[in-house]
Amino acid sequence: MTGEQTTSAANPRTSPVLDVRGVVKTFGDQPVLRGIDLTVDKHEVVVLIGASGSGKSTLLKTINLLEQVDDGQIMLGDTDITDPSANTDKVRARIGVVFQHYNLFPHMNVLDNVTLAARKVFGTPRAQAEARGLELLARIGLGDKAKEFPDRLSGGQQQRVAIARAIATDPELLLLDEITSALDPQLVGEVLDMVGELKRAGSTIVMATHEMSFARRVADRVVYLKDGVIIESGTPEEIFERPQRAETREFLARLR
Ligand code: ADP
Ligand code: MG
Repeated sequence: MTGEQTTSAANPRTSPVLDVRGVVKTFGDQPVLRGIDLTVDKHEVVVLIGASGSGKSTLLKTINLLEQVDDGQIMLGDTDITDPSANTDKVRARIGVVFQHYNLFPHMNVLDNVTLAARKVFGTPRAQAEARGLELLARIGLGDKAKEFPDRLSGGQQQRVAIARAIATDPELLLLDEITSALDPQLVGEVLDMVGELKRAGSTIVMATHEMSFARRVADRVVYLKDGVIIESGTPEEIFERPQRAETREFLARLR
């Protein structure tokens, strides 16, 4: 395509949002990530699939600096976040994270949950943060829940609030770890729909999920992880319709 810029390390304006290079992580003597390379461009949605224990969460945690890498490097934009001198708080402020178990603060209402980071981390004045928070909640159909406490919401609503909280400060990158796996099946759709909307709005997302039909529909790229190694990655068509590796075929066959 003419005019399209390619991603190139030589051109910092087009450097990827995330560049994971040769990341190794060992717990005790158990290698959990064994040389992970993963580049994520702006607006890309990358879905990690793989059996439980394959290292998906650990990979997401190294990106959010919840786990230290033993070897390799992780670049967030032009920042080497694995450099020991990297400022952990500043790095985390650039990344939105949602985990499996809704981690809303139970003693705070929905609006305070959504606006806390803007107010405390970025120093946004309360009125401004709340205006933005209310706008976000309205956009996801939870405008009337602003003053409710989390335990008054369904699991699906809580997870949507958790996502709203994660994007309230416009992070460069969103990490979603099995965000629907603790939900009753009938609540999964509303949460995944919200992720689809974030993609349409241009978010850059790395997510681990067991929802294969969602991965097929929404992912730009699917990455299959096994025992801490990326076995294969490609478009949903490439991975689900014509996987090249026997391991990938076996994994997908077991899901059917
Ligand atoms: P996944 O998210 O794909 O299910 P995880 O990244 O959670 O996989 O786990 C990968 C492996 O690392 C598993 O064998 C798990 O038991 C192990 N592991 C994860 N976190 C720790 C930890 N903090 N200490 C020791 N082992 C861990
Ligand atoms: Mg996990």
